[in-house]
Amino acid sequence: MKKGKKLYEGKAKIIFATSDKNTVIQHFKDDATAFNNQKKANIDGKGILNNRISEHLLKSLSEIGIKNHLIKRLNMREQLVELVNIIPIEFVIRNIATGSLTKRLGIEEGTILDYPLIEYCLKDDKLGDPIISREHILNFKWLNLIELDLINEQCLRINDYLQGLFRGIGIKLVDFKVEFGKTKSNETIILADEISPDTCRLWDQETDKKLDKDRFRKDLGNIVEAYQEVARRLGILHEQSNIRPIKFSKPTAVKIKKSK
Ligand code: UDP
Repeated sequence: MKKGKKLYEGKAKIIFATSDKNTVIQHFKDDATAFNNQKKANIDGKGILNNRISEHLLKSLSEIGIKNHLIKRLNMREQLVELVNIIPIEFVIRNIATGSLTKRLGIEEGTILDYPLIEYCLKDDKLGDPIISREHILNFKWLNLIELDLINEQCLRINDYLQGLFRGIGIKLVDFKVEFGKTKSNETIILADEISPDTCRLWDQETDKKLDKDRFRKDLGNIVEAYQEVARRLGILHEQSNIRPIKFSKPTAVKIKKSK
């Protein structure tokens, strides 16, 4: 697969053309941004970890029938993915209240939600990705009702599966953001972008220690170590002598709730 010209550069990723018009290369950078680009840094090794973690999660999701853009990982920083037209909406799924939800509505930090909450944000940096309602999505024809319901259903399935997967390795899936796109070939809606500690909030089950991008947002330090810890628990990062000892507690006995 020949790597072609750069098609798009985002905050954390670059998209390159390939010799096949229906596939592109997704390259993971080490750049991190927060607060609508106001805070920026380069975090050595983050892109490599996100590439591996996202590959693992998207592969697992495709095994349970969640169609997504991943074709295969090409190297340490790149994946071959299906080219899609990204739907300009960020789908945020929450299990525990934190971040913008607590600020916006005054909900107490750490409140466990009775059932998963889906929120929609318009993907528009200039407007600061404003939160929007279902009615906005339908009124402005960003999606039709069938498409929106299909994506909602997928969001809940993804949440259900990932919550279980992370619970099994001693991590709470607090919230996460996903994006969907329409394939060029037949306009099918599939999961796209990435799922990684950049786009999820992941708290250690026992200590609530943050293992995600909040370490960058809140200047908590040890960002790469936290991402490595997620990768290690997922079983995709082998122990290496050059990795500093981890300061986070190891998962102990895992409590698995009985499904209702
Ligand atoms: N999120 C993301 N990209 C964004 C905004 C949010 O990946 O542009 C993720 C974020 O990492 C978290 C979830 O979506 O897992 C909910 O984020 P929230 O709205 O609380 O964002 P905050 O304003 O606190 O960053």
